[in-house]
Amino acid sequence: MEEQPIICSSCLGENSHVRMKRHPNGEECRFCTRPFTALRWSGDTRVGKMKKTVICESCARARNCCQCCSVDIDYQIPLDLRDAALKLAGIANPYSVENTSKNREVKAIIGDKIEKRLKNEETETAEEKKEKMRDILTKLAQKLGSGAVANTSMPKERTSGGSTTKELSKTIAALPFGGSLALPKNNEDRSFFVFGFSADMPQYKLSEFFETHGKIESVRIVHKAKCGYVVFDSRSDADKCASAISSNGLNSNLATAGLILVNSQPVRVSWGNSQPLGRNNDEQAKIAQVVTKVMKQLAERDALQKGKRTKKLNGSHSTKRQKLESQERTDKETKEVKQSYKALSRDLEL
Ligand SMILES: [Zn+2]
Ligand SMILES: [Zn+2]
Repeated sequence: MEEQPIICSSCLGENSHVRMKRHPNGEECRFCTRPFTALRWSGDTRVGKMKKTVICESCARARNCCQCCSVDIDYQIPLDLRDAALKLAGIANPYSVENTSKNREVKAIIGDKIEKRLKNEETETAEEKKEKMRDILTKLAQKLGSGAVANTSMPKERTSGGSTTKELSKTIAALPFGGSLALPKNNEDRSFFVFGFSADMPQYKLSEFFETHGKIESVRIVHKAKCGYVVFDSRSDADKCASAISSNGLNSNLATAGLILVNSQPVRVSWGNSQPLGRNNDEQAKIAQVVTKVMKQLAERDALQKGKRTKKLNGSHSTKRQKLESQERTDKETKEVKQSYKALSRDLEL
């Protein structure tokens, strides 16, 4: 394969003419350990700033990376970051190469395989490859939601990842935001809709909380949507959990979802069976916006209810002690509500 070396522009330097020196079998490839014809050149006008290739051509081509610094050749993104991001976003990545073996022989065998594969793929032109990559990274930017590409290419409202606004509203409408912890009619129900936590809420903290009330069948949390479902193994444990939350004193309006504090974050809980929580990051981000709004509304309704109750208590023949207790409680609750707002507003800034 006597072709153009794959070297990124920053490694090539600013000179328009770069003189390269070939060193047959001059280096061992960092990825496959096989010796290859290394290239050396002066990447800078200053003397002594010599650059060299450290990755063989087939390894670099298979990964679409620079033979010298190993960044993605088209996007100048470090390989690990690129592959991790694509994997996270669930996008097929033709340039990901699993080569985690520490064994030199195995590495070399994988290198041979890659080279063979590339020879068979010779028909794919560089332009086709670039097109594929562009497609992938554009998708990635869209999936990441607030990505720079998505922002510049079109207004945010319209990039709902291929789904119509109608479908999304249907999804949101199906979510039991208006639910409560009152006994459900269906005796089979043992699933809770849990919402309002921020994206950094550790799932195990939520599991831990619910496990104190009984055996959990499943916890399905979509962090990006700030909501999810917790399903108990049995209805009786679910009932126990519901009544424990109802009577924890945090939520004064029992007609709305219960309130718990997990990891010092306010989280709402109501009965609710599993519904879709958005098909992509964009939909999930929109659901999260609704969650944030509902959290505020619920806190406001709570405060209203609390005001009514305090008035009633103070108006009746309550003893001094009762008054004091109720006052204390209100103070405590206001503090908690304030705390929850703080958590929410910090989260919103992201
Ligand atoms: Zn190699
Ligand atoms: Zn480079």
